[in-house]
Amino acid sequence: MDTLFKGVTAVTMSEQDGGVIKDAFVGVSGGKISYVGREIPREPAASVIEGAGKVLIPGLINAHTHLPMAFLRGYADDSPLREWLYDHVFPAEAKLTDRAVEICSRAGIAEAVSFGTTSVSDMYSHLDSIFKAADEAGIKYSGSNGAIYFGEESDFGFETCADTVNMRGMHLKWHGVDGGRLRFDASIHAEYTSSYPLWEAVAEYAINNGLRVHVHLSETKKEHEDCLTKYGLTPAQLLDCHGLWKNGGIAAHCVWLTQEDASLLARRGVSAVHNPVSNQKLGSGTADIAMMRRLGVNAALGTDGVSSNNNLDLFEEMKAACLLAKNKERDPAAMSALDALKMATVCAAEAQGRQNECGKIAPGYDADLVLVDFDRPHLTPCHSVISGLVYSARGSDVVMTMVRGKTLYKDGEFLTIDWEKTKYELAHEVMPLVFA
Ligand SMILES: [Zn+2]
Repeated sequence: MDTLFKGVTAVTMSEQDGGVIKDAFVGVSGGKISYVGREIPREPAASVIEGAGKVLIPGLINAHTHLPMAFLRGYADDSPLREWLYDHVFPAEAKLTDRAVEICSRAGIAEAVSFGTTSVSDMYSHLDSIFKAADEAGIKYSGSNGAIYFGEESDFGFETCADTVNMRGMHLKWHGVDGGRLRFDASIHAEYTSSYPLWEAVAEYAINNGLRVHVHLSETKKEHEDCLTKYGLTPAQLLDCHGLWKNGGIAAHCVWLTQEDASLLARRGVSAVHNPVSNQKLGSGTADIAMMRRLGVNAALGTDGVSSNNNLDLFEEMKAACLLAKNKERDPAAMSALDALKMATVCAAEAQGRQNECGKIAPGYDADLVLVDFDRPHLTPCHSVISGLVYSARGSDVVMTMVRGKTLYKDGEFLTIDWEKTKYELAHEVMPLVFA
């Protein structure tokens, strides 16, 4: 056995009630969880981690973000949406180079890992640079390039559209690298940034290559209603007509989803990814997650980009998801802490198509593990570990993050990312390039 967590409180998520085991032993061998139980395992361990006062959880999964947007943290906040996007965010992003995106990605990954995130579903341009950063950092990464197409429908061609050519290139280069730690998802950015020839090209490519899709869906009321006016269908219905949901995947936001839309996503095996903090910050509305879950939609959690959040802390998202659902339904039982924790672990793993490898602490699963220090004033006393994780804990309570048995972050130190170098490059390369 490589590593043994001793005397820890394990929240395994392998039972419907969360499967909390106090004074547990959790063993890791060859990157996998090899032992979970109350008895000390017979096999000796090369390294023992004392778990008293700490809670071991499955690595959290951020099912929708834009990692490189770390460089926009706090930039032009509180502006009206159109002005924020067109006068600030888009012009800043237009100045990014491959090199700048690689630096920003490393910064984003460092933040995610320090907050206990072990797997990310991401959408951005300069995707090769992000894959490179994720490959080196050791995090699980499902990347997509968010294809757009504003040309004439009759002019569209797979070989002449930069984003479909890029889709194929990224798929062939990165999908399945390191035993599937890195994956490529087919993607369109959203209904309103493209038209049917692109949807059909991406859908066909996804089906032929067994890829999932990643799409922004019905994030704002305007986008949802403009689609209804233009096509007589909701974005979910319209994209379904063009085959985009056939292989399952991720629909991010779903703020304005109707009940019919939700039933459609449930039938197609498409997961809705709730981004509660971003939706509130941008004034987009509140996704009806309770309704979607009642209709059988797998719902997961995401942070969206740092520019609209302004961090990658999934502990904050879990709490925000609960508070919003309770407020929306005027019912404190509308969403429980356990529901939120499932959305950030088992349900998010399913959204990524990784449900057989992560999201739980169980023998045979990858050792994607996070240790949370509960020996802190804001976590004392602890009547319920799950309530503590969702309502009281924060990302900064994480003291160790491990992916496939490899420690990426421990006690404030990054083991696979040179944080001092990244910080320097962000300040001395990216900031002058974009904002000078
Ligand atoms: Zn997004």
